Amino acid sequence: MRSLPPPVSTRRLRWFLALPKLGVVLLLAAVVALLWLLHQNEIEEERTSLIKDVLWLEQNLRFHLANNEEQFQQLAQDLGSQQDRKQLFRVRAGHMLKNNPDIVQIVWYDPRRRVLDALPAASPVDSELEAFGPPATQKAFELAGRLNKRVYSEPFFLSGNAAHFALAVPVFAERQLAGMLVVTYSIDGLLGNLVPWWFAEKYRVVVVDDNDVQFAAKSNIEGIPSLSYELPFEPPGYGLNFRVTSYQTPGNPLQRLLAGAILVLAAGVFWSMWIVRDLMRKRAKAEEALRAEHALRSAMEDSLTVGMRARDLTGKIIYVNPAFCRMTGFSSAELVDRSPPMPYWVPEQLDETMALHRAVLAGEAPPDGFEITFRRKDGEHFQALIYEAPLIDGNGRHTGWMASVLDVTERRRAEELARQQQEQLQFTSRLVTMGEMASTLAHELNQPLAAIASYNAGCLNLLANENFDPGDIRQALEKLGVQAQRAGRIIRRVHDFVRKSEPKRAPCNLGEIIEDCIGFVEAEARKRHVHLETSLPALPPVLADRLMLEQVLLNLIRNGMEAMSGTPENRRVLRVSATPGAGEVIVGIADNGGGIAPEIRDKLFTAFFTTKPEGMGVGLSICRSIIEFHRGRLWAEDNVQSPTGSGTIFHFTLPLESA
Ligand code: ADP
Repeated sequence: MRSLPPPVSTRRLRWFLALPKLGVVLLLAAVVALLWLLHQNEIEEERTSLIKDVLWLEQNLRFHLANNEEQFQQLAQDLGSQQDRKQLFRVRAGHMLKNNPDIVQIVWYDPRRRVLDALPAASPVDSELEAFGPPATQKAFELAGRLNKRVYSEPFFLSGNAAHFALAVPVFAERQLAGMLVVTYSIDGLLGNLVPWWFAEKYRVVVVDDNDVQFAAKSNIEGIPSLSYELPFEPPGYGLNFRVTSYQTPGNPLQRLLAGAILVLAAGVFWSMWIVRDLMRKRAKAEEALRAEHALRSAMEDSLTVGMRARDLTGKIIYVNPAFCRMTGFSSAELVDRSPPMPYWVPEQLDETMALHRAVLAGEAPPDGFEITFRRKDGEHFQALIYEAPLIDGNGRHTGWMASVLDVTERRRAEELARQQQEQLQFTSRLVTMGEMASTLAHELNQPLAAIASYNAGCLNLLANENFDPGDIRQALEKLGVQAQRAGRIIRRVHDFVRKSEPKRAPCNLGEIIEDCIGFVEAEARKRHVHLETSLPALPPVLADRLMLEQVLLNLIRNGMEAMSGTPENRRVLRVSATPGAGEVIVGIADNGGGIAPEIRDKLFTAFFTTKPEGMGVGLSICRSIIEFHRGRLWAEDNVQSPTGSGTIFHFTLPLESA
């Protein structure tokens, strides 16, 4: 398994996340500072242009008033020196009024403050002029008379709220004060006349005094004031000021759009960083989980004792686990990426191994696994049991083959040893059985030998009698022969039984074998008061080793008889039956003994398991080996038909010769 890259520590991860955040914050701060500077710059520019405009307006006004002063001075001078003064006043004053809408009225007084003429004659100021004007004008009149020079009056209000000021210009005739020209200006009119439209579009112009009393105003705009600038309004002076206020403009839409876009982008960056942070956290968690999973898998793989080997579809090794490396002695680096022939293949079996390898790649490996000989790096051969399975990746694609490899050398060795031991055991068992049978044999042989002796004595007696019938002697000798044959058979059987010979399977008559065995144990059965019964229909021949089969039957019959030692004598029946089935014969040995306790049922066929004080416990184990050698089965069941309510039936099957 490939190793994962080292984990990113949580501290470093936090740094990685903090750096772009810091960067974005700094960038945002720089952008905000830039915008602020631009704004400040704009304000500064606005202020400069405001001051410039105000200065221009003030200059304009001053120039206008100075120009008018000059003209009135000239008029006053002409009124003092020329003849047709009334006419002159009318023409010149009319002219001035026409050109200066800000002049409300021009009045010509004599030195005693009587009105000589006034233009326009009927004006709102009239009534007050008759009473010699407002006090501010009177003051200016006096001052001008005293100083002998033109004087502006204080501002004053007329006809409601309209603010005015007056200019008093003394008229001299031959160096004597001969009258006074009083020109009344409307401040509103002045602003209306001299503040151009573009100025009013940009600013609000107000005339105020030191006490913030407003005298006139002109503006075409409304809104929130931003900057203002004041300048003394001189003439007329008297604490009057211009106050010019600029108003906040809606601002540059492009600039606003830009600022908005920057804010939106910054928000977007923050948002995306939030998502990235989330993703990185999730990723870190997933990596952590993966690492844990990887560690678990590695631990599992390392602790496996089964070798694992993965190959791709071309047969190249892509992975081997530590167990496989231990098994073959080659390291993972020596095996991974190797293509056939593999270093662990046995050189002498290269062709067979290659054929098997191709079969696996073609998907024809036996599903129950197969055995093969491999060679370790040190040259030692070992037996491997291999199960091949398709390797499927995460997308369900077949990418190769995964083999689990078991080293079964030891197992095979143990099996061979067990087989040899079993064989040895069989032989020993035969010897033991022989010992057990010795007394039975003696008893068995007694019968025919006694019969032979008695037939022999009979014959001798007949021969002693001269009138003997030769037929009687023949009959006796024939019977003697039969008994001698029987004795001979008994002895041969023992001889055969004891002699260790290779099992030979040949067609035999099962019924005959069973009858023989019954005959063999008859004496013992009588001694044990056991009634032997057989149920043997005509049976086809079976393929068996006669001696081995006899050993099985004798063992099972003897076990059955022994099991009935506690059964009432009249119920001690042992029944041997044989039934032909499909391709086989089923033999049953049923007793009415105590049966088999459930707890020992599983151990019954285990070697050396016995419940008898003098038992060896190998009988049933050998019986099963013999029956399995004959390709049959041996098992035990409860004898449900037993009249005592308990008992056992041992069954075994044997294949028919034709099967
Ligand atoms: P042994 O006869 O030497 O004990 P076996 O292998 O023949 O060895 O039998 C093992 C055990 O199986 C016996 O000790 C006995 O407990 C049980 N057994 C065998 N046959 C029978 C039977 N017919 N009825 C009850 N128990 C039996």
